[in-house]
Parts: sequence; structure tokens; C-alpha cells
Amino acid sequence: MRVLILGGSREARELAHATAGERGLEIVSSLAGRVRDPHLPVGQVRIGGFGGADALRDWLAAEDIAAVVNATHPFAARIGANTAVATAALGIPLLRVLRPAWSEQPGDRWIRVADLDAAARTLSEFGDRVFLTIGRQGVGAFAALSRQWFLIRAIDPPDGALPPHHELLLARGPFALEDEIALLSEYRVDVVVTKDSGGDQTEAKLVAARAAGLPVIVIDRPALPPGVTAVDTVEQARDWLLRMVVHSDPESAR
Ligand code: NAP
Repeated sequence: MRVLILGGSREARELAHATAGERGLEIVSSLAGRVRDPHLPVGQVRIGGFGGADALRDWLAAEDIAAVVNATHPFAARIGANTAVATAALGIPLLRVLRPAWSEQPGDRWIRVADLDAAARTLSEFGDRVFLTIGRQGVGAFAALSRQWFLIRAIDPPDGALPPHHELLLARGPFALEDEIALLSEYRVDVVVTKDSGGDQTEAKLVAARAAGLPVIVIDRPALPPGVTAVDTVEQARDWLLRMVVHSDPESAR
């Protein structure tokens, strides 16, 4: 049974690893090709967009894909929507792996907003020195803010317009708590802006902000497309795939 794992996340790499060599399963991982030097999953990997929902549907049919696991980052909404449409058109099972969102802890000063534009609108209320940790995509939403100074952290440089006053910090997580605490202090940060990415790889900034008493603007996740089944963990996704194999070929369970 050929399975597509849509990747670009730690969960996707872990799932490819956890299912590698499983009898009856052939995994193909797909990356968008956004970062210059991606962490590659084990096994077959294809890189680059498919060209929209219809092209993805045609690719799935041509490659004889029998199931899809969307393990992309929680904010990768377009590929999620395209995958829901393409798999529904072909009647292929689809599972979303979605790590749990972060939750506010005692001492946190979070301001939850719906999207990047709302974060940019809210920002002026919380000070002029901003730690922008939303990755390289979406920084353009802050480009018109000329009063604030931004520390922009991303793996690769963002494309497009950037706010006039900024410093770019190129770095890939995980980040240690003591480093995050030092960074907030060194750059005299007033406010942190983050997506609600969840997971422990980039959580230390939230703990550091709590310790420093700083406000954090937390951008909510995009909604899941209707009808898509989601699980929290790689283990659940692996079990789902193994059940698929048994279902598609009961002989493989013997
Ligand atoms: P997106 O907005 O949902 O997708 C934009 C387009 O990129 C899609 O329409 C698709 O192009 C292509 N694409 C996305 N993921 C793909 C994949 N795994 N394989 C092949 N094509 C893919 O996604 P995004 O937010 O730009 O994220 C792109 C990648 O970066 C994802 O793999 C995601 O896991 C990773 N990532 C995203 C974030 C984030 O904050 N958004 C953070 C960390 C990692 P076509 O329409 O041409 O098929």
C-alpha cells in the first residue's frame, strides 16, 4: 500500500521513521521545498508543490497512493485544504496529524488573535521592541509598522517586504530556555509574537516570556477542513496506517 506523508514537520519525519520497513507499507514523503537545507525524512522523498488541488489529485492517482497523512505544520492551511479536496475526489482515506496547541499557564500574559493581520493591528498596544517568531512566512503582515523595532527569527530569510526597523536572526530550533531568557533581555524585548504552533521545539520562548512578565501575542491556528479526522500523535498516525494495511490486505497481518 503506497502512502503519502505530507511533511515539513518533526511529526512527519518521525512518522516516516516509525513506519519505515513495515510490511505492506510503502511511504513517500513530500516537502514543499521552502527551506534551503531541510531535515529529510528516511525513505522516498519528493520536493516541491503539486500545483493545486486538481494537480495533487492527479498525482495521487498516477502514483497509486492509497492513503494520505497530512503531517504538515499546524499553520499549513492551503495544502491541508487541497489535500482534503483531492482525497475526497478519489475516495482515499486522509488523516491529519496535529500536535496539541499550546495552553496558557499561570503567569502568562497572552493575547490571542485570529491571524497575522490581527496580530499586527494589536501590536502597538504592547510596546515598541518586538520579538517576531512566526517563521519566515507572513512577516509581510508587519512590514507597514514603522514605529516598532523587530527582532525577526526564522530558519531562512523571509521573502518580500520587511518592517523598516529590524534585525534578522537566522536560527533553527529547538531553543534552550536559558538562551531564550538571555535573548529577551539582551534585545530589551517588550512583546513576543508567535503562532500557536504547539510542541516542545519552540516552547521555551513562552516560558521565557512568562518569567520576564512579557505579553505574548498568540496567533490562533487555522481551522481544519470540514470532515477531516485528526490525531495528536505520531503513534496514533502509525496505528491508523497499520490498520489501513490490514484492511487493504488481510494477508499482511498473518
Ligand atoms: P501552505 O500555505 O499550506 O501551502 C502552500 C503551498 O505549498 C501548497 O498549496 C502546496 O503547493 C505547497 N505545499 C505545502 N506543503 C507541502 C508539502 N508538504 N509537499 C508539497 N507541497 C507542499 O503551506 P506553508 O504554510 O507554505 O508551509 C509549507 C511547508 O512548510 C509545509 O510543508 C509545512 O509543514 C512547513 N512549515 C510551515 C510552517 C508555517 O508556519 N506555515 C512552519 C514550519 C514548517 P501546491 O498548491 O503547488 O501543491
